[in-house]
Amino acid sequence: MIVKTDKNEFSDYLADASNMQGGSAERLCVPETAEEISSILKESNASGTHVTVSGARTGTVGGAVPFAGTIVSLEKFDSIKSINKESMTAVVGAGVSLADLQKAVESEGLYYPPDPTEWSCQIGGTVATNASGSRSFKYGSTRDFVNRLKVVLPTGGMIEVARGEYVSRDGHITIPNGEGGKLKARIPTYPKPNVRKNTCGYFSGEDVDAVDLFVGSEGTLGVITEVGLRLVPRPSGSLSGIVFFSQESDLLDFVNEAAKASFGTRKRLAEGKAEGAGVDASLIEYFDRKSLELISEKFPEVPEGMAGAVFFEQETSENNEDELFDAWNIMLENNDAEIETSWFAVSEQDLQKMREFRHALPVAVNERVVRNGQRKIGTDMAVPDAGFGSFLRYCESRLESSGIEYVIFGHIGDNHLHINLLPKDDEEAVAARHIYGRFIAYAVMLGGTVSAEHGIGKLKSKYLYVMYGERYLNEMAELKKAFDPNGILGVGNMIDPKYL
Ligand SMILES: Cc1cc2nc3c(=O)[nH]c(=O)nc-3n(C[C@H](O)[C@H](O)[C@H](O)COP(=O)(O)OP(=O)(O)OC[C@H]3O[C@@H](n4cnc5c(N)ncnc54)[C@H](O)[C@@H]3O)c2cc1C
Repeated sequence: MIVKTDKNEFSDYLADASNMQGGSAERLCVPETAEEISSILKESNASGTHVTVSGARTGTVGGAVPFAGTIVSLEKFDSIKSINKESMTAVVGAGVSLADLQKAVESEGLYYPPDPTEWSCQIGGTVATNASGSRSFKYGSTRDFVNRLKVVLPTGGMIEVARGEYVSRDGHITIPNGEGGKLKARIPTYPKPNVRKNTCGYFSGEDVDAVDLFVGSEGTLGVITEVGLRLVPRPSGSLSGIVFFSQESDLLDFVNEAAKASFGTRKRLAEGKAEGAGVDASLIEYFDRKSLELISEKFPEVPEGMAGAVFFEQETSENNEDELFDAWNIMLENNDAEIETSWFAVSEQDLQKMREFRHALPVAVNERVVRNGQRKIGTDMAVPDAGFGSFLRYCESRLESSGIEYVIFGHIGDNHLHINLLPKDDEEAVAARHIYGRFIAYAVMLGGTVSAEHGIGKLKSKYLYVMYGERYLNEMAELKKAFDPNGILGVGNMIDPKYL
């Protein structure tokens, strides 16, 4: 195991993609075995030393940023142990990068759908944050693909949990503690927000699986060392488009119709009433007018004067390609899309160009932020279907009256948009944070979530309070203490330490 105590040698490990300032630690450990992690945690319990788990540090909420003690990096757990074509499963070390997993899976003709766009992240990190992305509209989040986990508990016990093996009963879950005994914890009882994506706090509900407790636990309930994943067959073809609208209301109607049609197809498929044909988008992404203006600096072919655009993708097979092409065209015509100026792709090359367009937007946003010498203030909220229209109108009117530059884009199929405020000076930055707080309150009022995919980390723990209130935070703290009685692991992540 590599151990470094000279901070100059591990300064990269003191920050993540959130740019959270002030990270510090006494040492970096780079273990190669679960046993080494177990010893680090046992020693840390004895000495009361804080431990922060570090993946690839692509997280955006400061979860991997340490403020004391020891950093444990999973980078040496980087082997793909197996990919089984027949059972469509994979077993990987937690430190395997998403890029390496995707490459290996693709070469077997299989597909791993969770895609947080930043492929340098580690699978352990994506499990710990329950990462998702644009294709979550069809496939769900990382949680839906985790079958099994090997975990080193905060007290040092090494355990393995498979889906279905340990499930809560009467509000409590009992799992082995890895040292010959048992760990019993009460499951939080907060009502889940009525949204399709949520990464806020420990999992709740009846019959909670131990796997689901670790997924999304943001480095606070254990160190994940190995992950068993579910894979799916690689889609044989796809049909996609970036379609422009001159009226926002038409765009929203189109999204509504495409989403409803997709849910209808899935329902029929689940009931065995369809053969596989039917509109079923794998992603529905939104760009507002200001996003198009910003990105047209890099893509001058973007038509002028548009109210917004939608990027959609549908998986196809040889048998249903034409039928689906017609079905999408009918929806576009019904909703007055600017078909003449829109872009469609059937080849992998065209599709790649569309993905580049989608990816170029957050890059352009980051460049603008750097140019302004400010930090981006970006939302990750999602709201229930019924509240989406009013949420968007509320946000747009606040943004317009503020005079602060902004763009809105993201996963509109899941009612989950990233609103990016781009303040140009300190005064605007203060106003932007105030507006952000209003959006949080409105999303919570509508029964939504303050974080649909990036997690809570250290930066958003105060919003977890806004969402759940004291009672449910106390329940989460109780669960955390059952796993980590000395409070050493992932300190400051998710739950404000004052509750512990
Ligand atoms: C440009 C960009 C775009 C992004 N887009 C998306 C997106 O569309 N959707 C989305 O969901 N996310 C997105 N993300 C953020 C996403 O959360 C991370 O990319 C990823 O999930 C975290 O993986 P990581 O290995 O970098 O973890 P880190 O950032 O290192 O850690 C994240 C958290 O997980 C914990 N952790 C890490 N590894 C382990 C482990 N083995 N065991 C226990 N705890 C662990 C850490 O302590 C920390 O709390 C984006 C990030 C960037 C930079």
